Amino acid sequence: KQGTEADGIAFYSQDMNQGMHERMRIESGLRQALGNGELLLHYQPKFCIDDGSIIGAEALVRWQHPERGMVPPAEFIPLAEATGLVVQLGEWVLEQACAQAQAWKRAGLRPIRLAVNVSAREFTQALPARVQETLRRHGLEPQWLELEITESTLMHNIDRVIGIMDRITALGVKLSLDDFGTGYSSLSYLKRFPIDTLKIDRSFTMGIPQDTNDCAIASTIISIAQQLNHRVIAEGVETEDQLAFLKGAGCNEVQGYLYSKPLPAHEFELALRGKWRV
Ligand code: C2E
Ligand code: CA
Ligand code: CA
Ligand code: CA
Repeated sequence: KQGTEADGIAFYSQDMNQGMHERMRIESGLRQALGNGELLLHYQPKFCIDDGSIIGAEALVRWQHPERGMVPPAEFIPLAEATGLVVQLGEWVLEQACAQAQAWKRAGLRPIRLAVNVSAREFTQALPARVQETLRRHGLEPQWLELEITESTLMHNIDRVIGIMDRITALGVKLSLDDFGTGYSSLSYLKRFPIDTLKIDRSFTMGIPQDTNDCAIASTIISIAQQLNHRVIAEGVETEDQLAFLKGAGCNEVQGYLYSKPLPAHEFELALRGKWRV
């Protein structure tokens, strides 16, 4: 006899076990990776749209797994967020980014603003003091640090979140709103957020110029940013057509494969020194 209800259930729960097993395997692997130097940061330059100069960089975490090779963040960040491990991961990223920024400064490189991604779970009352302490320890001036936060961070307790944002910006650290337009934070709140920059998500950039809706959304985000006195950057810029459209619409900065992929620290340094054209 085959295909009974009981078989189906047994089969289903075996699947679930495998899924859970896989998650636990990745989680313990990631916990170890944090301690044994398997994590590293790559840096994707951000460019001024007017003169094409590098004005900043976004730090993006990479996991160099001894057997699996380079594991992309899409495969472990969501899990780290679900388990809370993202808090320790975030501490490591901030530490590493500040150390790198300071090392570049000491090496006499032109100062640039370094952006770090911060998950909703890291955005707690403890964050401002941790940021302040990390900057102090590395002797890094706050204006060279930027935190990229997503709309999901803003969806929880709005007054509490604004309080944390205010304390971070009071330090002199910049805030930007990542993946803008993909969540659903209300426009009425936008004016209350002490943010410096709106970041147009790649899902909109991708449709430029052929998709009229994406063009309309990108233009609208740019004009909202202008009206609210924020800067605006587009991520995922891959073509000259996209660049031309964004320039025409008044976008301030661009980031994407058209200019450069995320780079290992030493390659980013060469790009910044201008010895290597990206
Ligand atoms: P994100 O913050 O939206 O970062 C942009 C992603 O787009 C990066 O993927 C980047 O490599 C990729 N990208 C940049 N330009 C282009 C382009 O022109 N074309 C295409 N196709 N892709 C482009 P990545 O590095 O795989 O990171 C994926 C996501 O993982 C990030 O999305 C961010 O949400 C998360 N993430 C990465 N590093 C960290 C981190 O240190 N902390 C936290 N909390 N999240 C991180
Ligand atoms: Ca980001
Ligand atoms: Ca994005
Ligand atoms: Ca993001």
